[in-house]
Amino acid sequence: MHPFTYAISVDFEATCWVNQPAQQFRLSEIIEFPAILVNLKTGMVEAEFHKYVMPVEKPQLSEYCTSLTGIQQKTVEAGVPLQTALNSFIEWLKKELSARNLVLPKMSMTNPQGNCFFVTWTNWDFGICLAKECARKNIRKPTCFNQWIDAKAIYQKWYKYRPFSFNNALEHVRLTFQGRAHSGIDDAKNLGSLICKMFRDGAPFSITMDLTPHKELNENRGF
Ligand SMILES: [Mg+2]
Repeated sequence: MHPFTYAISVDFEATCWVNQPAQQFRLSEIIEFPAILVNLKTGMVEAEFHKYVMPVEKPQLSEYCTSLTGIQQKTVEAGVPLQTALNSFIEWLKKELSARNLVLPKMSMTNPQGNCFFVTWTNWDFGICLAKECARKNIRKPTCFNQWIDAKAIYQKWYKYRPFSFNNALEHVRLTFQGRAHSGIDDAKNLGSLICKMFRDGAPFSITMDLTPHKELNENRGF
C-alpha cells in the first residue's frame, strides 16, 4: 500500500512555434502555471493555484501558440515573471500542505516518503521545461520539484495500454475531457480527475522520477 492521500497536479503551458525542434531541444518559456490540489479519496479539488507568466526571451507569442493554448498576448503581458510565479507558488504550497498535515516526498526527516505528491503527464513539465528555463535564467529551481509521479508511466503499466494522447488516455478509462484542451488549468484539472480515477482503480503509486541523489533528502528540507 502506498502512503498517498493527496496529489498536486501541474500542467505548464509554454511558448511554442510551428516546425520547432523536439521538446527537449526547445527554448520554451512557461506562460501558464496552474496547480490543483486533489483529495485522492474524495476526488475533490480542494485548492487551486493559477498564474500567467510573462515570457522575456521571446516576448511575442506565435499565432500557433495562441491558437493551441488559447492564451492571448495581452494575458502574458499582464503576467508575472517566472521568479515571482515560483515565489507565489511556494507560498501557496506551504499554506495548503500545512493546513492538511501534508508532506511531499524527501521534504521531511520524520516522513521522507511523504503523503502527497506532484503529478504531471510525462516528465516534460518539471524534467525539461522548468529545469531548462531555470538553468537559462539562473533561477534556483525549488527542491520540492525534484520528485514527482509521471501519471503516464503508471497508467501504461496499470491499464496495460499505451495512449496516443492525453485525451485518449482519459477516453480509454471512460473519462471525458472537461474544458479546453491545452489550457493549462483545464489540463491540470483533467489530470487531477485521471489520477483520482487511477487511485479508485487501485493503481500502485510510487515516485517515478527522483532528481535528488540516491537516498538523500532535499538539502535544506525547506522548499
Ligand atoms: Mg497542457
